[in-house]
Amino acid sequence: MNHELTIAWLYPDLMSTYGDRGNIMVLQKRCQWRGIATRVTPVTLETEAKELSHCDLIFMGGAQDRQQKIASDDFIRRKGPVIGEMVESGIPALFVCAAYQFVGHYYKPYQGDAIPGAGIFDLYTEHPGDQAKRLIGNVVAQLESDQFLSTSSYDQTIVGFENHGGRTYLGSKMKPLAKVLHGFGNNGEDGYEGALYKNSIGSYFHGPLLSKNPHIADWLIATALEMKYKNDLALAALDDRLEWQAHAFLLHR
Ligand code: GLN
Repeated sequence: MNHELTIAWLYPDLMSTYGDRGNIMVLQKRCQWRGIATRVTPVTLETEAKELSHCDLIFMGGAQDRQQKIASDDFIRRKGPVIGEMVESGIPALFVCAAYQFVGHYYKPYQGDAIPGAGIFDLYTEHPGDQAKRLIGNVVAQLESDQFLSTSSYDQTIVGFENHGGRTYLGSKMKPLAKVLHGFGNNGEDGYEGALYKNSIGSYFHGPLLSKNPHIADWLIATALEMKYKNDLALAALDDRLEWQAHAFLLHR
C-alpha cells in the first residue's frame, strides 16, 4: 500500500522565524526516506479554511508580535475553529512559539491589547512589560511522557533554542511536554516547557525543533499515519547518527 500524508503549513509567509520552516523539511525528508509521499499545503490569510480538512498533520511556527497581530483575526475566526476540531479528533499538530501562544486563550504583548487566541489549548500567555528580559537561549528538557520513545539512549530529552518575551501558563486541562533541565521554558518560573494535548504539541523550541529531536518528528509522522490508515504502522528505522550527535552536543554543553 502506498502511503501519503498532507501537511498543513500555517502562515508560511508570516509565521516562520528562526528556521521553523526546517520542521517541514524534516517531516518531508523522513517520510521520503521511507517511501511515504508528502504534500505540503501552505495555508495563508487567503486560503479557505476548508482546505485544512484534508490535511493529516498541522504545523505552525513562530512570529514577531507584529505578524502575530496580522494573522490574529483570520486565525481566530476562520482557521482556528477548523484546527480546533482537528486537534480534538486526534490529528497531530506542532505549534511553535507564537503559534503555541496563539492556540491558547490569549497573548498579552508588552504594549497594546491582548491578542486573542483560538482557545484550542487551555493556556494563556502574558508579556510582563518592556523591562522584562526576553527568555533566550539553548534549552534542554526531560520529556514528561514516554510516548515519544525511540531506540536512542537520548530519547527522553528534547533540545532546542528559545526566544520569547511572553510567559505561558498552562490550565488544568493541559499537560506539560517536558521538565526544563537547562533554560527557561514556558515562563521561567514553574520549570516546564511546552504542552501536550491529545496528539498535539506546543513548544517554545525553534531552531528547528524536529531536526535535533527525531523522536518527536517520527511520533508526529507515525501518529498521522495511524489516524489516516487506522492501523499501527511501524516506521522503518533511519540512520539518525548525525541527528543524535547534534542532540547530544547540546545536551552536554
Ligand atoms: N511574540 C512572541 C513573544 O515574544 C513570540 C516570539 C516568537 O515566536 N519567537 O513572546
